[in-house]
Amino acid sequence: MKKKRILVTGGAGFLGSHLCDRLVAEGADVLCLDNFFTGSKKNIEHLMDCKNFEIIRHDLVEPVLLEVDQIYNLACPASPVHYQYNPVKTVKTNVMGTINMLGLAKRVTARILQASTSEVYGDPGEHPQKETYWGNVNCIGPRSCYDEGKRVAETLMVDYHRQNGVDIRIIRIFNTYGPRMAISDGRVVSNFIIQALTNRPITIYGDGTQTRSFCYVSEMIDGMIRMMNCEDFIGPVNLGNPNEFSIKELAELAVEMTGSKSKIVYESLPENDPTQRQPDITLAKKKLNWEPAIQLRQGLKETIQYFKSVLPK
Ligand code: NAD
Ligand code: UDP
Repeated sequence: MKKKRILVTGGAGFLGSHLCDRLVAEGADVLCLDNFFTGSKKNIEHLMDCKNFEIIRHDLVEPVLLEVDQIYNLACPASPVHYQYNPVKTVKTNVMGTINMLGLAKRVTARILQASTSEVYGDPGEHPQKETYWGNVNCIGPRSCYDEGKRVAETLMVDYHRQNGVDIRIIRIFNTYGPRMAISDGRVVSNFIIQALTNRPITIYGDGTQTRSFCYVSEMIDGMIRMMNCEDFIGPVNLGNPNEFSIKELAELAVEMTGSKSKIVYESLPENDPTQRQPDITLAKKKLNWEPAIQLRQGLKETIQYFKSVLPK
C-alpha cells in the first residue's frame, strides 16, 4: 500500500505532538506545520531524526502549497490565556487558517479533519451535551474569538463539503490533559499540578462548583485517528471522557496526589466561564467503537510524573 502523507497543523503543540508520535510510529510520512506560538520544538525533537518526519515553520493564516493525503487541522491556541492574548489572531487562525487548509484539501483531494471543541456548546443549556445541541455562545465576550472562531471553522468545513465535495471529518474535543502541556499553558490541570508540586496556592476561579470532564491524551489521539479513518461518517462527533468533576474536586485531588502543602485560594471567575460540561459520547461509541477507559487518577499520575521531570529543581 502507498505510504500516506499526513499533514498535522499545530503539530508542535500538546495534542499535535502526541498525534505526530502515533502517526510516525504507524509508518506514515508526517509533515508537522507550526508557527510555534504555543507549541515548542521540545515536543517533537525526539522525532527529528525519523526519516518519515518533517517540520515546516509556517503561519496557517498564510496559504501553503503541499502534496498530502490527509490533513489534521489542529493549529490554534487552546488555552483561554493564550487564545485571548491576541483575539483577532485567534479568529484569523480559525477562519483564514481553516479556509487555507480546506483550499489545500480541495486542490489535492485530501481528507481533512478539523479539531473543533466542546466550546461550540458555550455555557450549555443541555446536559450532557449531544452533537445535536446548537449551543449557547456569547458572540461578543472574551471567549468568543475561540468559540465563534471554531463554530465558523465547522461551518466552513461543512460548506466546502456540500459545495465542493471536500472529504471532511469534524471532532469536538472536550478538555484533554497529559504530558507536554506547556508549563505556561494556564489550563486547569497543568496549573493545579504545577501549583501543587511547587507548594504555591491552588487558584480556583469562582467557587469551584463548575464542572469539566477530563480525557487523557492517549485516548483522545486514538479517537482522532479512528475518526479520520472512518469511512461512512463525517461528524461532528464528541470526543471526551464523560466522567465529570467539579474544579474543587480536581484541586483536592492534585493536592492529595502530590502530597502538597498548597492551600486552596479562590479568585474571581472569568466572564462567560461555562458552568458545566460533559460529553454524550453515544455517537463515538457507535460509529468509532471508541470509549475512554483511563480514569482521572491514573491520567493525573502520569501527568504529575511528567511535570516533576520538567519543572526546574
Ligand atoms: P496547543 O496550544 O498546545 O497547540 C496548538 C498548536 O497550534 C501550537 O503548537 C501552536 O504553536 C500552533 N498554532 C497556533 N496558531 C497557529 C498558526 N496561526 N499557524 C500555525 N500554527 C499555529 O493546544 P492543544 O491543546 O494541543 O490543542 C490543539 C487543538 O485541539 C486546537 O485546535 C484546540 O482548539 C483543539 N482542542 C483542544 C482541547 C484540549 O483540551 N486540549 C479541547 C478542545 C479543542
Ligand atoms: N480554572 C481554575 N483555576 C485555574 C485555571 C482554570 O479554577 O488556575 C477553571 C476555569 O475557570 C474553568 C475550568 O477551570 O472553570 C477549566 O478551565 P480551562 O482553562 O482548563 O479550560 P476551559 O474553561 O476552556 O474548559
